[in-house]
Amino acid sequence: MNNFYLAQKKVYDAIVVGSGITGGWAAKELTERGLKTLMLERGRPVEHRTDYITEDMGDWEFKFRNRGDRRLFEAEYPKQSQCYAFGEATRHFFVNDKENPYTHDPDKPFTWIRGYHLGGRSLLWGRQCYRWSDLDFEANARDGFGVDWPIRYKDIAPWYDYVESFSGISGSVEGIPHLPDGKFLPPMEMNCAERHVKEHIEKAFPGRKLIIGRVAVLTVPHQGRERCHYCGPCHRGCSAGAYFSTLSSTLPAARATGKLTVRCNSIVHSIIYDEKKDRAAGVRVIDRETKETLEFYGKVIFLCASTLGSTQILLNSSTPRFPNGLANSSGVLGHYLMDHPYQAGATGEIHGYEDKYYSGNRPNGIYIPRFRNLDASSKNPNYLRGFGYQGGASREGWQRGIAMPGLGVEFKKQLRQPGQWVMWIGGWGEHLPRYENYVELDPVQKDQWGMPLLKIHCAWSDNENKMREDMAVSAAAMLEACGAKNINAFISENPPGLCIHEMGTARMGRDPKTSVLNAFNQCHDVPNVFVTDGAAMTSSACQNPSITYMALTARACDYAVKQMKRGKL
Ligand SMILES: Cc1cc2nc3c(=O)[nH]c(=O)nc-3n(C[C@H](O)[C@H](O)[C@H](O)COP(=O)(O)OP(=O)(O)OC[C@H]3O[C@@H](n4cnc5c(N)ncnc54)[C@H](O)[C@@H]3O)c2cc1C
Ligand code: SF4
Repeated sequence: MNNFYLAQKKVYDAIVVGSGITGGWAAKELTERGLKTLMLERGRPVEHRTDYITEDMGDWEFKFRNRGDRRLFEAEYPKQSQCYAFGEATRHFFVNDKENPYTHDPDKPFTWIRGYHLGGRSLLWGRQCYRWSDLDFEANARDGFGVDWPIRYKDIAPWYDYVESFSGISGSVEGIPHLPDGKFLPPMEMNCAERHVKEHIEKAFPGRKLIIGRVAVLTVPHQGRERCHYCGPCHRGCSAGAYFSTLSSTLPAARATGKLTVRCNSIVHSIIYDEKKDRAAGVRVIDRETKETLEFYGKVIFLCASTLGSTQILLNSSTPRFPNGLANSSGVLGHYLMDHPYQAGATGEIHGYEDKYYSGNRPNGIYIPRFRNLDASSKNPNYLRGFGYQGGASREGWQRGIAMPGLGVEFKKQLRQPGQWVMWIGGWGEHLPRYENYVELDPVQKDQWGMPLLKIHCAWSDNENKMREDMAVSAAAMLEACGAKNINAFISENPPGLCIHEMGTARMGRDPKTSVLNAFNQCHDVPNVFVTDGAAMTSSACQNPSITYMALTARACDYAVKQMKRGKL
């Protein structure tokens, strides 16, 4: 083996696997605490600004007028193209499914949406950020699904403060106990139709609230980054750095310490485990381009390769002591996979504001916090836990003409005028943690780099299906209370994975017999390995999870460095 690093016997203080939202935070926190850190990223390098190659392109400048090459998408991107953000302008930030396969049961589709490049999905995310509360951290203990979280809100609250203060989250202070307020930048504004809907819902349904979305987009200059100018196509990258991404925020901070080494095109294959010391010694890497095998050594390893990516690495790191995957003495590694059931809700026309419009493309919507199963009075007997709604109001554009009869000059003139105000609200619900939803390594099939494929087994249960029914019915009822017209309740196709909030598979817990990680995201079995992405989640709540991953990552880094200083790692 031609291994430069082995010959040098260079041992980093820390190795971070992955450069997405959590990897960026781990690199920043570890380097700022003085650790010489190696970040390994399986994908290609991406430079902030210069590599946002479609950022300023008009539809007419794309080969397929930004409608995409249908044949290519079907042949090579059958899964990724199901994501709302995928298209001709963003394809380069999604994986090619053909080159990066995985398998699932034929009758249980799972849509695994991925971005393999420096920055990971931090370049693609919708940036919605909502804190969890003890309603969420106590949920498993309350109804018995899943094990109890080893932490409570008070343990993570200072870390929410910390990551929010750096990232820049705009939002309004509301005093909602189960959706705690954060360190917010000024909120974005609602438009007139949204204010109308807010007023009517809050009046007709006491206790329910409609608030502006909490979003990692700057409304004022912050940390050297510019405020958002409401241009709109965020998924193509943002040269202003107005939204939080690894490339705009955490990576520059980590680089500024002079302690970070980044190696792209480095697919972490497995963790090297030293049986005698009972510690991880480093990682095995396959160079994506040359397919050469390399080894890198580190005193502490942070797995931030995304939920399924990190679990794949652990499963692929079996040793005589851990025949079913590293740190898997509990046998639960790979199990309790969750996502959020969504794509159920309602739309309706809001009349009376035909003389009003808005300017710019606000990269944010509204949020209706959970109102089901908070207490005895809000109990829905059909399912456990609950959901929140995201949504927004806008005026229809010329595209409405596709579904209208008409022809000629008059028809075109009519379409030049803004159309009706339409409000949509859609639910994001909690997925119960279940043992039977799991991933394993395919015993036969490998990818072109020799990694066993992930085989995913995941389905919604009756609980999530009933919850989705309620999302549609309750959304329609709220729009009705607003006097909306032509209300359309919908429940669309929604395979697990498509919400892109995949979580669990290396859960945190109090008991090493039933969990992989302790209260600090540290493997019970191998103390110098930390997993701080969504794999660590013990339940899914119904809020978008990434801000919680960030807070857990920063907290785990702080803990790891303190333990190292005490000589305990
Ligand atoms: C369109 C879209 C909208 C979203 N909207 C929201 C939202 O509004 N709010 C929210 O909270 N979340 C949202 N998400 C989800 C959010 O993007 C993820 O939760 C978040 O990116 C997870 O961070 P991560 O670091 O775990 O993974 P990622 O950001 O996916 O980063 C993982 C990195 O690890 C690398 N990697 C994987 N395997 C290996 C390996 N073996 N070796 C080396 N490197 C590896 C990958 O290439 C990648 O760069 C959205 C996602 C998408 C795609
Ligand atoms: S809308 Fe704002 S955050 Fe999105 S790309 Fe434009 S400036 Fe950046």
